[in-house]
Amino acid sequence: MSKIEEKLFQDRYRVDAGRPHIRIKDAGLCRDCRNQQCTVCCPAGCYSREAGGQVALTTDGCLECGTCRIICDEHRNVEWEWPRGGFGILFKFG
Ligand code: SF4
Ligand code: SF4
Repeated sequence: MSKIEEKLFQDRYRVDAGRPHIRIKDAGLCRDCRNQQCTVCCPAGCYSREAGGQVALTTDGCLECGTCRIICDEHRNVEWEWPRGGFGILFKFG
């Protein structure tokens, strides 16, 4: 059976340069966020813990699953929209 990394490698992602479709509204709220759950729940690893308690977001490779907009329930600190047409994830099935 394939590992998740091997499956993800089959997908293709078209970057919309300079126009990320997800944004952290207030970086200060992330520093104060107790669990920083986005850093462990994103299946594509788009959120990462940085030095000093910051959270960094890179939307390249986002699977558009919507988990981060739901999991950030305490602070509601994620601004989320679909990528523009022609950009974002291209799933390869089978
Ligand atoms: S869950 Fe929300 S507030 Fe907490 S670190 Fe992630 S984006 Fe920031
Ligand atoms: S929508 Fe899903 S894959 Fe994309 S950043 Fe949020 S949790 Fe990660």
